[in-house]
Amino acid sequence: MTINVTRSSMPDFDEYQAEIKDLWQSHWLTNNGSKHRELEQQLLEYLDVPALCLFTNGHLALENVLSALNLGGEVITTPFTFISTSNAIVRNGLSPVFCDINPTDYTIDVNKIEALITEKTSAIVPVHVYGNICDVAAIAEIADKYDLKVIYDAAHAFGVTTNANGIGQYGDASMFSFHATKVFNTIEGGAISCSDKTLRDKLEILKNFGLSADDAPYVGTNGKMNEFQAAMGLCNLRHVDAEIAKRKRVAERYNEQLENVPGIRISKGQPGVKSNYSYYPVLFDHYHKNRDEVFEELKLNGINARKYFYPLISDFSAYSNKHKSEVTPVARYIADRVLTLPMYASLGADEVDRICEIIKQ
Ligand SMILES: *Cc1c(COP(=O)(O)O)cnc(C)c1O
Repeated sequence: MTINVTRSSMPDFDEYQAEIKDLWQSHWLTNNGSKHRELEQQLLEYLDVPALCLFTNGHLALENVLSALNLGGEVITTPFTFISTSNAIVRNGLSPVFCDINPTDYTIDVNKIEALITEKTSAIVPVHVYGNICDVAAIAEIADKYDLKVIYDAAHAFGVTTNANGIGQYGDASMFSFHATKVFNTIEGGAISCSDKTLRDKLEILKNFGLSADDAPYVGTNGKMNEFQAAMGLCNLRHVDAEIAKRKRVAERYNEQLENVPGIRISKGQPGVKSNYSYYPVLFDHYHKNRDEVFEELKLNGINARKYFYPLISDFSAYSNKHKSEVTPVARYIADRVLTLPMYASLGADEVDRICEIIKQ
């Protein structure tokens, strides 16, 4: 039996069917329908954020919030992320400036941000990685000092809290992804959380072509979440706490098997942070086999791990003419050695054991 790196969460078919049934009465399929409104309310509470704007996917959410904040010039981010992060920056006519990551939790190295700030810098887009969070306090201090906006890519951080605060409370805005492969999914979907209600209102207009009543104050796009996506979200949200609890057990099983293996480095979590166990990253650092050999060995046994994030964004051909991955040596080191192992709620203890056996043999 093949084990994939992830397996999308789905409610029972009957539950989804019951949830979408009234759409056959209302014939209201998109444009802020009742499922959309209900999901938004429930997520405001679940994510513990002041304001939320739902989108058809996380990427468009990020593109639109960068546009809404009227940024210019340069934006500091990291190359150790999904390509969506820097694509959203470039597609807004902004230049990404890549900052290195720290080798402990793989988020932006806050000690290296200030050296990259120029007169052209308008924002920082840090990325919460694998369910680990950035140093939000240090980033807020730098942003205050230089008057920069902070927009978090929180695609990996659904439901994560720090000192019991929802992670979406930090910075000027945070983007969550509800893609099928994420901890919580609406098939495709995403959202922006923010504390500024006028920013939220602007996003509502931007995602609907820039239209507001009889006017179009902005040149917007189409980023609306439809009712079938929202219905999937309403169902999946009922089960998400139970799923995260199961993911935690999977992570603990991996930890037991791998924590004392020389040359294998696992993530231990962060103090005060409630993780969502979205990924299980393992670093092969001076192990007797390298990352690619382990990847191939797992594949031969029907187990699909993922080189994530690899390659670095700065090494993709769309970026490599303007960017050099040499400027972020830690990110490069980690990208060459990291593997995310299969991680999803229904992954069995016996399957985790089999995966670890293959890695250790
Ligand atoms: C998934 C992901 C995105 C994009 O979200 P979509 O909902 O797939 O558009 C952006 N950044 C990171 C880090 C992601 O993992």
